[in-house]
Amino acid sequence: MFAQRLKNLKPYKPGEQPKDREYIKLNANENPYLPSPKIKDALKDIELQKLALYPDPDSHELKKAIAKSLNKTGGVLVPAADQKPLGFEITEDMIFCGNGSDEVLSFVFYAFFDSDKPLVSPEFSYSFYPVYAGYYGINLLKVPLNADFTLDTKAMLTIDSTGMIFANPNAPTGMALSVDEIEAMLKAYPKDKVFVVDEAYTDFSGYTVLPLLKKYENLLVIRTFSKSMSFAGMRLGFAVGAPALIQALTTTKNSFNHFPTDAFCQASAIAACSDIEWYSENCRKIIKTRDAFSKALVDSGWNVLPSKTNFVLVSKDGMPGKAVYEAIKAKGILVRYFDIDVIRDFVRITIGTDEQMEKLLEIIRTI
Ligand code: PMP
Repeated sequence: MFAQRLKNLKPYKPGEQPKDREYIKLNANENPYLPSPKIKDALKDIELQKLALYPDPDSHELKKAIAKSLNKTGGVLVPAADQKPLGFEITEDMIFCGNGSDEVLSFVFYAFFDSDKPLVSPEFSYSFYPVYAGYYGINLLKVPLNADFTLDTKAMLTIDSTGMIFANPNAPTGMALSVDEIEAMLKAYPKDKVFVVDEAYTDFSGYTVLPLLKKYENLLVIRTFSKSMSFAGMRLGFAVGAPALIQALTTTKNSFNHFPTDAFCQASAIAACSDIEWYSENCRKIIKTRDAFSKALVDSGWNVLPSKTNFVLVSKDGMPGKAVYEAIKAKGILVRYFDIDVIRDFVRITIGTDEQMEKLLEIIRTI
């Protein structure tokens, strides 16, 4: 009854959503702030007839809105003072939209990575990469991190690979390579292999590699609306890259599902893109809360990796991550622990509102 290939699937496990009581959810890197009120207006005006008709399969208006907002901000919601300007205009044909960046990543794995050579990724990065590699029969070669949790870029570049993928800032460490470090990797990497940087959390870091697209046509940048745009429930991710790469993703999409972004999603995201200031402000708040929370934890004797994201990876000496997770869960807050060597002692905590983090700190001080 079941296909042979089903036995080999090892599905991704998202953050838990228990229903036994009300929890403060700090386990899925969701944004604690509401999306722009302009979305409500846009949805109020949507004609019911639109729901009876197929949406635009290529999300033209949405791509234009995303391009406009990236050009306006320079590619990052709260840019650091030394973030370089884009230096070129992002156009609609450089953008591909999908049902969450998870789906965009699935098309990326299908379109660009063969199975004759390994796909290179850091040992710890987004845990969906090994799932897609398994799904498509791609040999994923995970390169161990340095002892300080930075990427071993030298080792990653010595491998004769079919492609390269990592998250920057990385997950679950929260740490980031600089744009210059990534450019040095691109310089050393073959121009005929796709080099993917997953910038799911980049808006919390101050930096983006988008300006490098002008020079490197094999660079593909993956972004999501889920984190900095408070859109995890609606599902929208996108890729930015050279038109030839975008065309390959479109061919892949049209061989699987013509309409990954529905009419509601397109209308809401266009409205969101027209209110970038709203999201920049929320992002600023999260960065401020993250830095204050990290400092408070360090002051309480915890180990905190320097985060450029909306989460922190933390540990307490002598206490396994699972025990920390359980102690916090018992008090009504969900965080995430990993049943994996090297990071077994850590928990990953999403940055919520100041009040939520204050509550968590009170609990943590009793552990
Ligand atoms: N990339 C990274 C690094 C992530 O942590 C996540 C969130 N789990 C995603 C991509 C996927 O995000 P989404 O599918 O919600 O766009």
